[in-house]
Amino acid sequence: MRKLIVLSLLAIATPLCTAQALNQQIVFADTPSGPTSVPKKPISFDVTAIDKTVDPCNDFYQFACGNWRKDNPIPSDQVRWGRFNELGERNRYLLYTELKEAADAPKTPLQKKYGDYFAACMNVDLADKLGAKPIMPELDSIAALKSGKDLAALNLNSFLHYGGHTLFGVGVEQDEKDSSKQILGTGQGGLSLPDRDYYLTDDERTKTIRTQFVAHVTKMFTLLGDTPDQAATEAAAVLKVETALAKGSMSRVDLRDPTKTYHIMTIAEVQKLTPAYDWKLYLNGIGMGKVRTIDISSPGFFTAVNDELTTEPLATIKSYLRWHVLHSSAPYLSKPFDDENFAFYNATLTGQKVQTPRWKRCTSLTDRALGEAVGQDWVKKYFPPSAKANMEELVHDLEAALGQDIQQLDWMSPATKVEAEKKLQAFRDKIGYPEHWRNYSTLTVKRDDLVGNLERDGIFEAKRDLAKYGKPVDEKEWGMTPPTVNAYYNPAMNDINFPAGILQPPFYDDHADAAVNFGAIGVVIGHEMTHGFDDEGSQYDLHGNVKVWWTPEDLTKFKERTECTAKEYDNFEVAPGQKLNGHLTLGENTADNGGLRIAYQALMSVLAKQGPAMATWKLDGYTPEQQFFISFAQVWCENRTEQVSRVSAKTDPHSSGQWRTNGSVQNFDQFGKAFGCKVGSPMMPASGGCRTW
Ligand SMILES: [Zn+2]
Repeated sequence: MRKLIVLSLLAIATPLCTAQALNQQIVFADTPSGPTSVPKKPISFDVTAIDKTVDPCNDFYQFACGNWRKDNPIPSDQVRWGRFNELGERNRYLLYTELKEAADAPKTPLQKKYGDYFAACMNVDLADKLGAKPIMPELDSIAALKSGKDLAALNLNSFLHYGGHTLFGVGVEQDEKDSSKQILGTGQGGLSLPDRDYYLTDDERTKTIRTQFVAHVTKMFTLLGDTPDQAATEAAAVLKVETALAKGSMSRVDLRDPTKTYHIMTIAEVQKLTPAYDWKLYLNGIGMGKVRTIDISSPGFFTAVNDELTTEPLATIKSYLRWHVLHSSAPYLSKPFDDENFAFYNATLTGQKVQTPRWKRCTSLTDRALGEAVGQDWVKKYFPPSAKANMEELVHDLEAALGQDIQQLDWMSPATKVEAEKKLQAFRDKIGYPEHWRNYSTLTVKRDDLVGNLERDGIFEAKRDLAKYGKPVDEKEWGMTPPTVNAYYNPAMNDINFPAGILQPPFYDDHADAAVNFGAIGVVIGHEMTHGFDDEGSQYDLHGNVKVWWTPEDLTKFKERTECTAKEYDNFEVAPGQKLNGHLTLGENTADNGGLRIAYQALMSVLAKQGPAMATWKLDGYTPEQQFFISFAQVWCENRTEQVSRVSAKTDPHSSGQWRTNGSVQNFDQFGKAFGCKVGSPMMPASGGCRTW
C-alpha cells in the first residue's frame, strides 16, 4: 500500500500488500490435487492462428488472432485467456512439479522450506477442520481495542501491526529527488473493491455491485458466527468507512504523476495531519522510531483516515478492521469462506465460472512467498546460459535502435537529445534471474500452518523492506520471480528487467527467424525501454531522480504528442459503452507504440547485415516485415470475460490485447506499407495517427 512504481508489461499486484494482493491475484478452489494434463509448449509465429478472411488493413488484431480466439475459448477457471497465459500456465505447471517433489522428498534445506510451504497450502482437510480458527488471534486483538488510538499498538507480533490488514502500511522507497537514498513512505489503501470509483460512481451497474458487495460482506460475517442483524450492521459500517477512504483517495491517473505523490513530512507534521493516530507508538513498534521524515504520497487519504478515527464509533472501526482480516484470509480458510469469497470476487466481479484448482493456487502462492528459493532450482533446469547470452545481444540491438530513433526525431532539439541519450546509456539491463538470491533463513515455515506461514511471510517481507532504510540501494534486487511471464522498467533504478520465464516461445525462440523474435521479445524489450521515456518515466533523469531534463519547448511538444495518444485511446471501446481511459493507459500505450517502432528499426539493421537473401525470405508466404507484425500481434491474442474488460478499464494501466495491437499498428506507417494498406483504411489512417517516439 506504499508507493511502488514499476512499469510492467502486464498488470501485476503490489508485492508489499501480501495477503490483500494475493486475494485479488490468486484465486482459490477445492479440487484436483494435481494437474490432469501437461500444458503444451506454446509455439512462436502460429500461422494457424491467422484468420485469412479478415482484411489486415481493416482489423489487424482479428486477422492475426482470429482463428486462435475462436479455437481458444476462456477455460472455466480463467477470466482472460491469451498466449501469455499459455506460457504462464506451462511455467506454473513446471514449477508445480518442483514443489511437489520438494514437498514429497526434499533434498536440500531450501527444498524442505518451499516444499513445506506448498504442502501446508495443499492441506485442504486441515483448513476445513480449522474453519476461522487461524485468524482468531488477530480478531481478538481487534476486539480488545479500547480506542482508535490503540490501533497503532495492535498486536506487535502480528501482521496486523505491519499494516497488512489495516488502513495503510509503510515501506521503504527510493527518494524521488535523490534516488540513492532509501526513505520511509506510505500510500493510500484500505479498500476492498477494485478501485475508488466503485464507491463514488452512481451508474446502475456500479450501484448493483455495491449492493452485491454489502450482501457478500454480510454473508462472510455470518460465516464467522455473527447473527444476521449484527452482520448486516457490520457490512454497512464497512461500506461507510471504505466510501470515506475512497473519497480521500487520489485517482489512479493522479497516482501516475510523481510530482503529485511526493510529500516529505516530519513525523510532527504527519502527527498533526492525523492527530487520531499515534505515529510514535506505531513507528517504535515496527522498529522505526529513529525515522525523522516520511513521504506521505496521498495526504488527502490520511485526512480521511483521521476523520474516520475521530467521527466513527469504535465499533464501526472494529467492524472495518475485522472485515479486512477476514477478507484477506478468506481463500486460505475452510471451504465456506473460500466459496463465498470466490462467489463475489471471482464469479460476480470478473465472470470466472469455476474455481482455480488448488494446486495452481498453491504453486502461485509459494512462488510469491519463496520465489527466489524455488526459482534457483527452476532456472537451473529451464534457463540455459545460451538464452541469457542471446537475450543480451537482443537488448543491445534494441538499445542501439532507440539511440538512432532519438537522433532522428524531428521534434526534439539537440540539447534534449543529448540528455535523452545519456539516460539511455545509463540503463541497467537485468536478464533472467538475480545474481544474489534472497536469504530466507529467518523465515519460519510450518507444514501444518498455512495462515501462520502467510503471516510470517508478510512480517518477514515487511522487515526485509524496512531494513533497507538509510542503507545504499541494492541495484541487483529483483521485483519479479524468475518463472514470471512478464517484464518491467523501474524509473527510480533506471533499469530494465526480463525474468527467465518470458524468454521462451511465443516471445523468444532460438529456432525462429529474426523477424519473428524481434516482433515478439524485441517489442517487449523496446516497450520496457520506452517506459524510461513515457509520460511518467520521462520525469525521471538518468539517476532515477524526478528532475526536468527537457528544454521547455521540447517538453511542450512532448506533452502535445502524448495528449494525442491519450485522446486516441480514450475512444477505444472494450465492452459495450465501456471505453479505455487514455490517461490511465498512456504510459503503457506510449511504451507499446515506441517498442514496436524501435524493434522494427532494430530488425531492419539486422536484416541489412544478413544480406538480401534474408531480407526477402518468406515464411508461410509472409515477408519479414509481415512476420514481424504478425508475431507482435500474436503475443496479444486473447479472450476476456466482459466483466474483466470492465474492471480492467478502471484499474489496469494496460490496454486490452485488441488495442495494444491495433492502436500500435495504426500509428506506424511501416505497418500499412508492409501489408499494402490504402491510406484511409482503419489501420492506416490519413492523419498518420499519433507518434511520440
Ligand atoms: Zn509496460
